[in-house]
Amino acid sequence: MDKLKYFFSILLLISTPISGLAVTVAEKSRAVDVDILIVGGTIVTMNAKREIIENGAIAITNGKIDLMGTRRIVERNSRAKRVINATGKVIIPGLINTHTHIPMVLFRGISDDLDLNDWLTKFIFPAEAKNVNEQFVRVGARLGLAEMIRGGTTTYCDMYYFEDAIAEETKKAGVRGVLGETIIQFPVSDNKTPAEAIAYTERFIKKWKGDPLIVAAAAPHAPYTVSTADLKAIRAQSDRLDSPVVIHVAETKKERDDILAQYGKTPVAYLDSIGFLSNRTIAAHSVWVTPDEIDIYRNRGVGVAHNPQSNMKLASGVAPVPAMLARDVAIGIGTDGAASNNDLNMWEEMDTAAKLHKLISNDPKTLPAEQAFEMATIRGAKALHLDKITGSLEPGKRADIAIVDFDGLHQTPFYNVYSHLVYATKASDVRTVIINGRIVMLDRRLLTLNERAIKIDANAYRKKIIDSLGK
Ligand SMILES: [Zn+2]
Repeated sequence: MDKLKYFFSILLLISTPISGLAVTVAEKSRAVDVDILIVGGTIVTMNAKREIIENGAIAITNGKIDLMGTRRIVERNSRAKRVINATGKVIIPGLINTHTHIPMVLFRGISDDLDLNDWLTKFIFPAEAKNVNEQFVRVGARLGLAEMIRGGTTTYCDMYYFEDAIAEETKKAGVRGVLGETIIQFPVSDNKTPAEAIAYTERFIKKWKGDPLIVAAAAPHAPYTVSTADLKAIRAQSDRLDSPVVIHVAETKKERDDILAQYGKTPVAYLDSIGFLSNRTIAAHSVWVTPDEIDIYRNRGVGVAHNPQSNMKLASGVAPVPAMLARDVAIGIGTDGAASNNDLNMWEEMDTAAKLHKLISNDPKTLPAEQAFEMATIRGAKALHLDKITGSLEPGKRADIAIVDFDGLHQTPFYNVYSHLVYATKASDVRTVIINGRIVMLDRRLLTLNERAIKIDANAYRKKIIDSLGK
């Protein structure tokens, strides 16, 4: 009976406008045990109504948001094992990094200011060929995971080698990931042929099926590095295993021109013509796409990862993000690998996205702060096809939450929450992070990763990498 009352009060709480909560009903119901109770602070829900709850509270049980509303009512209805006081802070959905290559943090700053082709062929591919093994990706993943947690990122989408080892590290760190094993036409560290890589993804996807944090995926590198036959086989595997497919698409003008010359179609149109695209596809970059191709994305339900800093740094071009948003494409924000960024900082990336598209469109009204924040949260979750479980703070969703300080000098004074989140707040303002109901950082202390050991391991790779390039 108590349970029923509690359920009823939750229904009332979530269906009643925040200002007019049904206090009498809440007062009648008895407090229920919850695992974690966050109290105080401003909750930026990113729910469909974009509700903001002042002096709010969130009750978390079994990894899920159970109850959310004003502090007074939630506190009255919950008896918590653990209370986190967020007074004066802002509580947001954990950020979603829709595209990265996490172990590449070990190549951070190895070479900058080069064309994509020179950068890849003279530095990245040789450095990868000589250094990447399972140990390398584990060390890199731990470094990247620590950096992401520190910046309030709770979900990321990856594409690399030995992705199963990355999945194990991600799971240990308690982070949510859509993790894609790279499939590419030339021999790489873990698999020597696309057929071997596809067999790897088959085992990898089956192994992680049903995991609460890890979604295993195939990641064909790009249309210019994977054959039509292999792309078709990967789509068939995705249908069979109901698993996502991560791919780079139309990153550079050269890629677009080459695909057009080879197949008579631009990249997205070509991928669609071979039946590759689906509502499980996650397409990174998509800089050189036509309006018709944006319609294809929209119609197929493809998720897109926009990587403004990487595209700027490699001078790849500017993705038509406002046009994609106008067509309601599921487009999120990604950092890309740290070798081309050079960090995994989603706060900088949001800020850059908002400003870049104003500049390019010659219109300061383009991509306002709230929309940029939406891309880093709920729309990013849609891009990864995970919006049913994460990306916003709502009862029933997994508890993926960041608590952010809002009293820094650079945040003073405070007028508008979205403005502050996108244009003023830094990754170092993130204080506490909860993923799937587990506290992974508390008052800036990492609880699932050893920061000192991570730095020692990463620095040990520095010399190895320099030596391997013969410099
Ligand atoms: Zn990439």
